[in-house]
Amino acid sequence: MNDMKFPGIYLDFAATTPVDSRVVEAMIPYFDQDFGNTSSIHNYGQAAEKALEDSRDRISSIMNCSSDEILFTSCGSESDNLALRGVALAESLNRGAKHILISPVEHHAVSETAHQLSEIHNFSVEYLPVDRFGMVSPDDVHKRIRPDTALISVIYANNEIGTINPITQIGQVCQEHGIPLHTDAVQAAAYLPLDTQLLNVDLMSIGAHKFYGPKGVGALYKNKTIRIIPEITGGSQEFGLRAGTHNTPYIVGMAEALCLVEQERERRIEHVVAMRKMLVNLVLDRIPGAHLTGHPELRMPNHASFVFEKVDGNALLMTLSAEGFAVSSGSACKTGDPEPSEVLLALGMPPELASGSLRVTLGTSTEMDHVETFLDCLPGAVERVRKYS
Ligand SMILES: *Cc1c(COP(=O)(O)O)cnc(C)c1O
Repeated sequence: MNDMKFPGIYLDFAATTPVDSRVVEAMIPYFDQDFGNTSSIHNYGQAAEKALEDSRDRISSIMNCSSDEILFTSCGSESDNLALRGVALAESLNRGAKHILISPVEHHAVSETAHQLSEIHNFSVEYLPVDRFGMVSPDDVHKRIRPDTALISVIYANNEIGTINPITQIGQVCQEHGIPLHTDAVQAAAYLPLDTQLLNVDLMSIGAHKFYGPKGVGALYKNKTIRIIPEITGGSQEFGLRAGTHNTPYIVGMAEALCLVEQERERRIEHVVAMRKMLVNLVLDRIPGAHLTGHPELRMPNHASFVFEKVDGNALLMTLSAEGFAVSSGSACKTGDPEPSEVLLALGMPPELASGSLRVTLGTSTEMDHVETFLDCLPGAVERVRKYS
């Protein structure tokens, strides 16, 4: 990060990450040298096509699937939309399935898509219960599956509270009933394994900018046996399921970034997890009325999230921002929204408490220094905001 231009400490890696310089390096040739259209016959086209298919191979090997099960999209949100709407509409056409099961702690890219499917296409959307950590139980999935269930969607690792769901076990239940399972792995991809065979999922979304890749590119794993209705119709790109000229440099960047996660996973986890543990312990220790949100252990290794009693979360964010800390209330999509987070309310938290949320997420460039400086300032900031709210 350029400290001259952005003085301060960035602790919001769940919102987005800087692009790894090795990723930038890998992308550059595809902007002005191998810039061809992947659909063209000539050498320029062939060079781009080769880069595209190499990227698809690299990603499919990490996801333990075949390369024609990877679809490139413009972002994690588009992958979620294509999975939900694409499968729901296909299952409804094929066999009249009109029931959708999702967790109440999904990202808006999933929950708003499900909501639209219920409003416009008459699907009935049912919400799975979650425990106080925001976790879905495979047993509850089993109890709620119906013959007319079109699909089930459960987030892999939650962006607001960090909790990791037992996707492998949920997937087992879905397979027993023959119902497609989608998981939003956009947050998970930065640290957790993405082996689709191990996870027992039929569809899985990722977005590159959450794991040190560029913004504006994503992918959807879709099992061969699952039918989807495309959302973007036109050319025959992406097996006819997602038209539009390929964004070759960004796709190359995403593949490189995901390979780097794979190669450096242990080191990256080790780097953040001790600092995260210290952060959580000291916040709970030093600040009266502080509570951890999400699961204490089964959570993203870089992720800490809290609620503070009698604190206005937005006022706290502004105070911390003025002191040079880039942190979040939980979801980047909700900045400026005074409503308490739906995710926290779904855990059964009273709205007054849910309004006082704070998310601190660490990354590869985070140093112990940053966390200590933050810990020095946070108790005073909470105290001051409390006095005025
Ligand atoms: C960021 C995020 C998304 C949206 O991804 P974009 O690439 O920003 O569109 C979806 N789901 C989760 C869990 C996320 O964290």
